[in-house]
Amino acid sequence: MIRGVISFNYLIQLSVSGTTVARQRRGATRLEHSKPTADRSAIIWGLGSVVAIALVISLFSGDDAERAELATKSSTVTADSRSDPIVNDELLESAVSPPETTEPSWQDIKVRNGDNLSLIFARAGFSDRDVYEVTRDSEGRALRKIYPGQTIGFLANTEGELMSVRHIESPLKQTIYTNEAGQYSSQLVTRDTELRTKTVGMTIESSLFLAGDDAGLSAGIIMELAAILGGVIDFALDPRVGDDIQIVYQENFLDGQKFTDGPILAASFNNNGRLVEAFRYTDSQGDVGYFAADGVSMRKAFLRAPLDFTRVSSSFNPNRLHPIYKTKRPHRGTDYAAPRGTPVYAAGDGRVVEAGYSRPNGNYVFIQHGEGFKTHYLHLNRKRVKRGERVKQGQVIGTVGSTGAATGPHLHYEFLVNGVHRNPRTVHKILPKAKSLPDSELNRFRAYIIDPVQRLASVKATSGLAGAK
Ligand SMILES: [Zn+2]
Repeated sequence: MIRGVISFNYLIQLSVSGTTVARQRRGATRLEHSKPTADRSAIIWGLGSVVAIALVISLFSGDDAERAELATKSSTVTADSRSDPIVNDELLESAVSPPETTEPSWQDIKVRNGDNLSLIFARAGFSDRDVYEVTRDSEGRALRKIYPGQTIGFLANTEGELMSVRHIESPLKQTIYTNEAGQYSSQLVTRDTELRTKTVGMTIESSLFLAGDDAGLSAGIIMELAAILGGVIDFALDPRVGDDIQIVYQENFLDGQKFTDGPILAASFNNNGRLVEAFRYTDSQGDVGYFAADGVSMRKAFLRAPLDFTRVSSSFNPNRLHPIYKTKRPHRGTDYAAPRGTPVYAAGDGRVVEAGYSRPNGNYVFIQHGEGFKTHYLHLNRKRVKRGERVKQGQVIGTVGSTGAATGPHLHYEFLVNGVHRNPRTVHKILPKAKSLPDSELNRFRAYIIDPVQRLASVKATSGLAGAK
């Protein structure tokens, strides 16, 4: 999960959609996330000063789908054109067509690799003197932190003098630097996404990914589902045709369009008759985790499939005659056929006790987990860890290959309990139980999951009806 400040913002934002303008005065502390309601009035009082703000508000308010786009393009939308996009465009054209009355418009420049302010200002027709003016005090220095993909916009008066500079960091955040009699002041303008909760049901007909795709789920949500249930379900080998899945999840919307995936709130997976359910819970300390309805953590000591399951080929038959020894050797592990280079993960936290090469094993890694458990990973193309290294669950320890006695690229995975090989597919039944929520959290948890439980139940009922037809 690579998520910065902004994504944190939209992940946890409540359903508050709107524009927040935090007027920043010289010497004031920077407001990263101002509270929408508190600052509304401040906005209004701070407004008068510049046309720029009116322009920004028009770009950042209203709810038509193109506004996010507009925010990164030049536009002459004025503050009161808040109608639907089509009407808006028409208004815009008729308003703009008499050339005499053209108002100054933003000239937006995309930041490229290797760019600096000097180059960008020059491309927009402004000088190093202008760069100096905007960035000379502590407030303006923030403008020096620019990254490829961001946008720097310029607004000049009819004499061609620079009046405002805007730094669009994302559709959710921009800063406007405004020239007031030779001094620049800055305003931070932030937006919040609107969180919507969705519930979907699906049945696997060929693959989990196709079922998810048919149900309108993004690949990201399916990967998240697999991560949540990865201690309980082997997504490479367990899913079966006919398996039912229901998911309650959230999406972040901006201007009526999906902006990003939000979290999964609840998931139910009927895997070949075995029902697995997980609920997202934020405990009274603010820690987030996924738990079964009885409060047992979904985070287990071991992953079921210690590799990127999306790349495992389902047509692989682990019970074949051994291709090299031509006998049906007792098979002491699980084989996952996957393309060379597929990432292999540490099944659990532990320490690498061996990382080497032998003729039968090829490149191999052995990991010790606590006292009694050990996992083996054979035929690796590359090893990514060294002997003695500590590893975390899910950490990439190597890649799938066909080194040693293997005809094709696959991961041979073994699980040992007190030195004895166990079937990795069934060993979980004898492993220590996962952590449960403490009694002090249980009542709160039960209240917390009432809504998602009902949502899951209603989608099950609906898909049951659909299936009965
Ligand atoms: Zn094998």
